[in-house]
Amino acid sequence: MVPLIKLPKPAVLRLRSLTWTVNLMAYRNRNEKPPKLVLNKYNHKKVKETLVNETSGKCAYCESKVTHVYPGDIEHILPKSDFPKLTFEWNNLTFSCSVCNGHKSNYYDAQNPVLNPYSDAIYEHITSSGAMIIHMPGSVRGEITYKLLELNRGNLIERREEALVIFRKYLDAYVKEQNIYLKSLYKKEIIGMISPDKEFSFVLKNSLSFFISKGLNI
Ligand SMILES: [Zn+2]
Repeated sequence: MVPLIKLPKPAVLRLRSLTWTVNLMAYRNRNEKPPKLVLNKYNHKKVKETLVNETSGKCAYCESKVTHVYPGDIEHILPKSDFPKLTFEWNNLTFSCSVCNGHKSNYYDAQNPVLNPYSDAIYEHITSSGAMIIHMPGSVRGEITYKLLELNRGNLIERREEALVIFRKYLDAYVKEQNIYLKSLYKKEIIGMISPDKEFSFVLKNSLSFFISKGLNI
């Protein structure tokens, strides 16, 4: 998980979210199940497009490049079952993979909500050790977030490890290289891999910080 910045609200939400919310709440207030057509208005092409842009096509939780594999899900940060008024609220929407979305489901605990990549200081709650996501000592929210979302599930560990192996090869080559031009190319590659739009940049960035703390000069 990396910190994210919200893009401006898409025009369709600016123009219609209030009407959609009023319609939805009319069903809720009558204790009726809203029809899918009323509930799923958030699933608009322009909303999805903007969310994909602001997350760089990555799951907001596990950092998988979702759009490589399938279209991905629009995810409600606070669950729409508990917060129906936030169903069409731009600040409550993000983009995720179906696995993280499924694990998170309707979880909500006012004391310890899942970390919000737009508003929480992510690095105060979670960090990583190699390919594993771990929580900062004492952070209940960090611990709940990675355990609930199963951020250390097998295939994620495997893919993060693959990225780390490549990353360490570049670091090694960078340190050994004598030619200034080639050295600068390795450096560019290394900096590119920790860019927040790249898959699994969280563990790669932490790995680089670890080596720098041990004296790596880059
Ligand atoms: Zn995910």
